[in-house]
This record gives sequence, structure tokens and C-alpha cells, in this order.
Amino acid sequence: MSAAAGVPCVLCAQDGGRLIWRNDALRVIDVGDPDLPGYTRVIWQAHVREMTDLTRAERTEFMEVVYLVESMQRHWLKPDKINIASLGNQTPHLHWHIMPRWKEDPWFPDSIWAARRDDEPRRHAHWKERLGTVSAHEAQYFAALSARLHES
Ligand SMILES: [Zn+2]
Repeated sequence: MSAAAGVPCVLCAQDGGRLIWRNDALRVIDVGDPDLPGYTRVIWQAHVREMTDLTRAERTEFMEVVYLVESMQRHWLKPDKINIASLGNQTPHLHWHIMPRWKEDPWFPDSIWAARRDDEPRRHAHWKERLGTVSAHEAQYFAALSARLHES
């Protein structure tokens, strides 16, 4: 499928990150952002514009995977908050960003698409410390998430 005539779709051509799991409808990706360990995307495989273009059953399937990601992030990464966002202005694939957030992270309390605040030295030192702890659990989080998805 192509997004527009002659323009290949990047999310049809590539997974868009490290593939954790997929089925015919969905895939789950490790975004691999070193500044935000555990950042995960759930991507609808087909080109669909809006959530309301999906059937009720498809929406449920989609969101159940998003909520599984959220619950696994809570368990393994112990974030202060989880941000869930769907924008999709640059790709014809519906997708959800599931972002664990910490009070010391480079953008908190703004969205991760805002300007970074880690030029504040105190924040930077606290974040380095917490990032070490979180990063130590990131591989366990993705392994556990993968296991749960593969058994579903
Ligand atoms: Zn595509």
C-alpha cells in the first residue's frame, strides 16, 4: 500500500522500531528512545484514518493491547504517570504512543514533544540517577510484555 501515488509508506515498508509482537491487525514496537526507556507504540497494520473507522470489535482489540502495555509499564517501570497519545498526522496508520513518564524526565510535566527542560542542572542529576534504575528494568518490561502478547 502507498500513502499517496508514488510515495511509499514508511510504516508499511518498516516496522518503525524493534518489533515486540504482531498479528494481522496490530503490531507492538519498542521505540528505542534512550531518553524514555519503555516508550512503546501500538500500530494498526492497515491504513485507517480514525478510530471511528474501525468496528467496535477492532477498537476493543486495539485498546486492549494499549491497556496491556500501560499495565506492564506500571508494573515493571514504576512511572509517575503514563501518557497515551494518538496523533497520526504523518502516517496513514492509526497508532498509539504509550509513554512512561517520570518527574525528573527531560520534559516533565510537559509532553515529550515540548521543549526539553534538562538544562536545569538539578533535574539533570536526578534524572540520571532515576534513568539508571528504570533502564535496568527496561529489558524485563519488554520481555514480559512480549510473553503476555504471545500467550494471548
Ligand atoms: Zn502503510
